[in-house]
Formats: sequence, structure tokens, C-alpha cells
Amino acid sequence: MLYIVGTPIGNMQDMTMRAIETLKGVDVILCEDTRQTSKLVVRFELNKKLVSLHQHTSDDKTKMLLEEYENIAYVSDAGTPGISDPGGKLVQLAIEAGHDVVPIPGPSAVATALSVSAFPADKFFFLGFMPKKGQQRTFDLIKDSQYTVCFYESPHRIIKTLEKLKTELESDRQMMVARELTKKFETIYRGTAEQILEQVKEKGEFTIVISPKK
Ligand code: SAM
Repeated sequence: MLYIVGTPIGNMQDMTMRAIETLKGVDVILCEDTRQTSKLVVRFELNKKLVSLHQHTSDDKTKMLLEEYENIAYVSDAGTPGISDPGGKLVQLAIEAGHDVVPIPGPSAVATALSVSAFPADKFFFLGFMPKKGQQRTFDLIKDSQYTVCFYESPHRIIKTLEKLKTELESDRQMMVARELTKKFETIYRGTAEQILEQVKEKGEFTIVISPKK
């Protein structure tokens, strides 16, 4: 059995009871980064072996781990595995090897941000991280989107991306920038790209939500 376990995106109190119970019950926890997941092990007294598994782990090693352990949990550094995070390949290999795969849901930055955006969220476009190359296509897509658009951005590029949104989108296009969701310095910026640029601090983790084209 492979359990894909969602973990907090900052605030440890968002760890679910089912996630704790699951992590305590498995033979091994595979994780994106053992240093990060050790914090969960200590905090929730999981007392469990951690083995690292990330996007550079070979398929052979992944298959070996799937053979070696009967009950396995996978966690990424934060949030829901597979959502702009490793985990997808593991699920694919586990299914091919005949394992049952069980989702243990938890927070995800994109859903958390959307839930307070005030923009329609019955349908939305999620773009993952803004690509580093070929961005123009992405900006064109955002510009013409009939749906709310969400994407992740790093602190190093948040200003540059907002500046580009300011020049590419209609000047009154509304957006929301969620910084450090669920953490001590959580800040929600609302308004146009220009208004947000005047306030935003270039530090922390960011999720951007943009209203649909009018
Ligand atoms: N799998 C994760 C999830 O479900 O939320 C996302 C992993 S992705 C590698 C990490 C990116 O998600 C960050 O660079 C940031 O853009 C966004 N993110 C993660 N935590 C966040 C938070 N607390 N506040 C705002 N954005 C966050």
C-alpha cells in the first residue's frame, strides 16, 4: 500500500489526524528531503525511518523501494505531493507494480490561496510555477483566460513577474498575491499589479491568483 500524504504548507497545526495516524502506521516514509520531514517526525513523534525520494531518484531505485516495503507513505516538503512537487512518478510506478495507492489529503497552497481570492473558483487554470523560459506564451494565456489563473512564484522573481503582469494585462485587471499562507507573516495583497507592486515584500513563498478576463 502506498499512501500519498498531504502535509502543512507552513502551520504545523494544519497536519491532519489521519496524516499523523498514517505516517505512524507505515513501514517507511519516503520524502522529498529528509531534513524537512525530520521536523514532522520530531513534532508528531512519528518515530519512523525516512528515505529520500525526489525527482532525480532513478526508476530502478524507486522500484526497489516499492518491493522492499509493504506499507509506504510519501510526503513532499510541504503541501500535497505531485502538485508542482515530486510524487507523480512514484504513483505511476506503484500502480504498475500492483500497489494500491491511497490519498491522504492535506493543504495545498493553490487551493488555500484560491479559497480567499474572491475570484470564481468553480473552474480555474493552474499553471504550476511560472516558466523561466518562453514566458510570453504564459502571459498571453493569462491575458486571454476566461478562467481564474493561479501560479506559484519564487521570492527572487515576484517583482519581475508583477512588473511583467503590469505591462501585459489590462491596467485594471484584479489579482491577489498570497504571501506566506498559514505562517506568521501571512499577507494577502489585493488589487492591480501596479497597486500590489507598491506594497509587496520580496520575501517568503508566493502564490498568485489572477481574475478572469472581463
Ligand atoms: N505541493 C505544494 C502544494 O501543494 O502547495 C507546492 C509545492 S511547490 C514546490 C512550492 C511553491 O508553492 C512555493 O514556491 C510557493 O510558490 C507555493 N507555496 C508553498 N507554500 C506556500 C505558502 N505558505 N504561501 C504561499 N505560497 C506557497
